[in-house]
Formats: sequence, structure tokens, C-alpha cells
Amino acid sequence: MTRALIIVDVQNDFTEGGALATDGGAAVAAAITRHLNEDGDRYDLVVATRDWHDADGDNGGHFAAEGTEPNFVDTWPVHCVAGTPGAEYHESLETRHIDIHVVKGMGEPAYSGFEGATSDGETLQAVLADVGVDEVDVVGIATDYCVKATALDACRAGLQVTVIHDLTSAVADATRDAALTALQTHGITVTTLAELAAA
Ligand SMILES: [Zn+2]
Repeated sequence: MTRALIIVDVQNDFTEGGALATDGGAAVAAAITRHLNEDGDRYDLVVATRDWHDADGDNGGHFAAEGTEPNFVDTWPVHCVAGTPGAEYHESLETRHIDIHVVKGMGEPAYSGFEGATSDGETLQAVLADVGVDEVDVVGIATDYCVKATALDACRAGLQVTVIHDLTSAVADATRDAALTALQTHGITVTTLAELAAA
């Protein structure tokens, strides 16, 4: 087995104090770093994605129109504009662990990391294929949107997928629970760090 870790969108705007904060986001950033420090040998490759929107325009309707309230389903407050502090990785995520950086959402909504590319224009799927990855763990933010979409696309790409759900944080409890159920329905393993350690 060749295994990669995909760290989804652990960015300032998705953590406490950010434009689109999730509860527990900062703790997730620290816990992912701890996991890599303690069990980094588990991975042949570590990839991190970032939401990386254009400053101009509404990014294909992804940002709620000025003067209207976002619905937090498919319109959102302005977040993760490329080059701003909100788009940077959270400081508790130690970036020295990251082998490959992928950005997504330039001018359009992009929930899945598989819609993104490296600075060289290589897709996430190509990056994983280069190394012969056949199994991925997916962690990060948010469980109910970008983690879910990335895990489902990994599954569609024929990879064996595990979501370590205590290394994720969600927009809302109800949508998190629905997302985890949907992932399991697709044959994705949903587990915790403790279960992983015991396995
Ligand atoms: Zn976005």
C-alpha cells in the first residue's frame, strides 16, 4: 500500500476568528500536526489543499452578493481570498510536513481538492498517481463540505479512503452527521485517531 494524507483547507478563515469559522478548527490544526509528528511514517506523501478565491467578483456565485445574507449552503461570506491572511494555513499546522500544496476555487466554487492544482498546474489526482498512491486518509475543514467532497472524489478515483473524523471540524452538527453517514454509504471508512492506533 502507498498511502497519502490529504489535509483539506486548514486555513485561518475556517478557524476561530476567521470569516467562515468552524468550531474546533484551531484544535484540528494542532491535532493534525501532532498526528504527523507521532505517526508521520504512516504516509508516503502529505498533500494540503487551500481554498484560494479571486479578490475580484463573486467567484461564480460562491460569495453572497453584496448586501445579501449568505445561506451557508452554496453562498458564503467572503473567505480565503488568495494572498490574504485568511487564506494562509493556520499557524498550528506545521507546514514542514507538507510535500505538495494544492489550491482550488480560483474564480469558481471548488469544494473538492480534486478540482485544484499545484502551482505547476498538476491536478491532485496526477500528484497522487505520480507516487502510486492507492490509499488516502482525509482530514481538515470542513467535514460537511470540502472534506466530504474531497473524500468522495478520492473514492471515485478508485482510492481506498479513510476519514479521521476527530481531525476534522464542521460548519454545523447536523450536516456533519449527514456527511459522515453519506461517506460510509460510499464505502469510505470513518474512524478516529484512537481507533486507528488500536487497529
Ligand atoms: Zn470557498
